[in-house]
Amino acid sequence: MDTNEKQHLTPAQRRRKMEMKKRRQKELQRRKRRKKILIGAAIAVCVVILAFSIYQVIRLVGLGSSDISAKGETFVIALDPGHGGEDTGMSSGEAVEKEIDLKICSKLKIMLESQGYQVVLTREDDTRLSKEERAALANESGADLLVSVHCNYSETDASLSGAVTCFRQGDKQSKALAENIQTDLTAETGAADGGVSAGSYTILNDTEMPAVLVQPGYLSSDTDAGSLAEDSYQNDVAKGIAYGILASLDRG
Ligand SMILES: [Zn+2]
Repeated sequence: MDTNEKQHLTPAQRRRKMEMKKRRQKELQRRKRRKKILIGAAIAVCVVILAFSIYQVIRLVGLGSSDISAKGETFVIALDPGHGGEDTGMSSGEAVEKEIDLKICSKLKIMLESQGYQVVLTREDDTRLSKEERAALANESGADLLVSVHCNYSETDASLSGAVTCFRQGDKQSKALAENIQTDLTAETGAADGGVSAGSYTILNDTEMPAVLVQPGYLSSDTDAGSLAEDSYQNDVAKGIAYGILASLDRG
């Protein structure tokens, strides 16, 4: 447009031209806004897809779960009754730790085998084994998890009672197993809940599978010692531990 032409425009034509210019600018701004919204929506969709993919990968490699899987066709569970032979463990009157530990593990073995699982005991009778031998036996068995059974004892406080479960320091699966066992054990027996904690024992440190050490009661407590010596209470302890183990397995 040259200056001559501009001069020839009537005021009405000039107004119309201005209006058209404004309208074009508005349309341009609207398009820009729409583009921004579309880009925003596309980014949101990408973020959702990416988050979902990451979740699927985590699920597939099992990082999000503490469940224990079977290496073979069925679960192999190692049970380790504490003490044995001349090593009696702690005792209180009739209640002798090595016997209580073995009885609980033997009952547990029957319960777990009834579920179709394979059970390996580090000792099946009144034999003495070193801590290292126990860990080696468990490792050689290729077990998917290990539960060691002991009784607690306090030299200083006879009023201390209840169940405690220890797990291998820094191992998520061992911790989850300990928590499940502790929950079901206290529910089945009504024992006071002493909680779970990381424990530094050879049977936890030197074994390769998720491993816990369960102490269902204190032999230094008259009440706990009386209960632990009872066959029906030992059954409840075994049942609680068995439920806790079942709750920790990835059974597909
Ligand atoms: Zn012990």
